[in-house]
Amino acid sequence: MLILCVPPMERTNMMSQLRSLTRCGVVAVLVGVALLSGCGGPDDTKRAEPIARDMHAEPIARDMHSNANIDEVVMTHVDLALKVDFDRQVLSGHVDLTVDIVKPGTTTLVLDTKALDIQRVQRWEGDAWLDTSFNLGAEDEILGQPLNIAIEPSTQRVRVYYETTKDSDGLNWASPEQTFGKAKPLMYSVSQSIYGRTWFPQQDTPALRVTYTADIETPPDMVAKMSASNEPSAVPAAKHHFEMKQPIVPYLIAIAVGDFRFKALSDRSGVYAEPAMLDKAAFEFAETPQMMDIVESLYGPYAWERYDVMVMPPSFPFGGMEHARLSFLSPTVITGKRDLISLTAHELSHSWSGNLVTNRYWSDLWLNEGFTTYVEKRVVEALYGADRADLERASQYQSLQGDLAELSPPEQVLAIDLSGQHPDNVFTDIPYNKGSLFLTTLEKAYGREVFDGFVKQYFADFAWQTITTAQFETYLFENLVDRYPGKLTHDEIREWIHSPGYPAKGYVPTSSAFESIDAQRVAFESGSIGAAQMDTTGWTVEHWKYLFQKLSTSLPAARLDELDAKFGLSASTNLVEVSDWLNYALRANYQPAIDKRLRAYLGEQGRIKLTKPLYQEMIKTPSGIVLARSLLNETRAFLHPIMVWEIETNVFKKAGIPL
Ligand SMILES: [Zn+2]
Repeated sequence: MLILCVPPMERTNMMSQLRSLTRCGVVAVLVGVALLSGCGGPDDTKRAEPIARDMHAEPIARDMHSNANIDEVVMTHVDLALKVDFDRQVLSGHVDLTVDIVKPGTTTLVLDTKALDIQRVQRWEGDAWLDTSFNLGAEDEILGQPLNIAIEPSTQRVRVYYETTKDSDGLNWASPEQTFGKAKPLMYSVSQSIYGRTWFPQQDTPALRVTYTADIETPPDMVAKMSASNEPSAVPAAKHHFEMKQPIVPYLIAIAVGDFRFKALSDRSGVYAEPAMLDKAAFEFAETPQMMDIVESLYGPYAWERYDVMVMPPSFPFGGMEHARLSFLSPTVITGKRDLISLTAHELSHSWSGNLVTNRYWSDLWLNEGFTTYVEKRVVEALYGADRADLERASQYQSLQGDLAELSPPEQVLAIDLSGQHPDNVFTDIPYNKGSLFLTTLEKAYGREVFDGFVKQYFADFAWQTITTAQFETYLFENLVDRYPGKLTHDEIREWIHSPGYPAKGYVPTSSAFESIDAQRVAFESGSIGAAQMDTTGWTVEHWKYLFQKLSTSLPAARLDELDAKFGLSASTNLVEVSDWLNYALRANYQPAIDKRLRAYLGEQGRIKLTKPLYQEMIKTPSGIVLARSLLNETRAFLHPIMVWEIETNVFKKAGIPL
């Protein structure tokens, strides 16, 4: 155990002095629990492990999705001072970046910016802020504009005064009507993948870790929360201060401001939501403390002190986003039946894979999402039993097969080449489901006990680092494949990581639930039973998803009327089930469901996973294209900018269909 109490301003120098220490085969900077939990606090005894931070140890290669010159100078700490203006829908103020020059002689700091109004730049020299020269480089459609700032060899801090704009896609400004309470507006950030640069100038790459503080000014009746230390309470105020002492990759810096309330789930976990959603959310996420215990028992202590979740408005584009200490969750996972708890398990699991051990570049995302999806299923298994986990894994496999049928071979590779592409293109089933089924294949080959030990050690060895696929591959060979010979060959491992498709020897999960669903489906299709005779007791969204995937698309409308009437499919409040039902209705050209629910559905939630497949289905026919265009225009103002980009780029543009 190494405890160093160091004021933030002195960290940079200390890191330079400690760079020669070595751990886990990489040169590491050892920073004690001072950075984790403050000095002398009650939690110090819980985290005896030092933080290994390889990113300052030696120059790291630049990120193709960032203009930042991280091979020359790196940001190590961020101080935000921002005013949240709901009337103008902008954030304004300044950001201070603490920087560490890693290449002597560097005279320029290059930051990422996009859609920002940069007003003034200063550097801290001696004991004063001095104006310094800066310029914005050429605009790139994906990367934005580099902000080139003149620095001196002695420069350790830089301040940028700026304001966000209407094109700052990392921010969503929900009007009161777009919230559950309908009375107050709400704003939140989403920085993953490269949207952080649209709300503050930074070195916007997962290759780095930073600590941060923030002083946020809001209307006095608002609650602000960030991915930082948060009091387990929600008290409206005009000024809010945050501090994040654990180093995180920049895309995990997040803010939400709205009419939030808090309810504790345990002494280290709770839920934030608008008043109208608070009790429902607390019921839905009540198992979070148990989940924390489960993951800790498998992979070691939770490293972030508190774990809270926050329910976002319906426009939130993801199922969840794993901001450190504070996951943002879509309200679509609140079904009243806890049948989508795998999503909470997923975001929590990121506290180990993703937030503690992070992908170095976006092409390494599978290390993050593959491990997280694997751990998520282990949590589901521990909480709900092997049958449910097997069903979810089998469903994953089905979903992956669907994606493999649609994606080009280069897109099917875990270690994907993203040259010339937006990093959001990596967010397919490949890193999630192919990644986790690769790990499941390893578990089956080496046995659960051995594999659990390997994963636990992997998290410990790479904690607080950002790593590449090549690093993982070497580690996997040394610590599993070569240590237990005769199970899988290097070539088989390389096929998983570097080749398209699903390896012939890959584990194929199955579920006994499929047989029972198939039996009922075949009987319903043949007319030997009606909807009234179908037994759906205990069905989750995975059961319905499987049914709609397999159900004949040429059934007469009257049979589907029967199904809809019996199970209330079009009227369901389970928005995941509705998406699968509407997807089926589009494929089966079942107009009553389309008329009854599709238009309303696309205006009541804005989650990519539930929305994009419906557009992909619509554009398969000429009349569907017309419908898709009109629905996108109708809902555009409600949707998150990332959602709009996804539909425009990865549905219309990808299919060569003009908007
Ligand atoms: Zn994830």
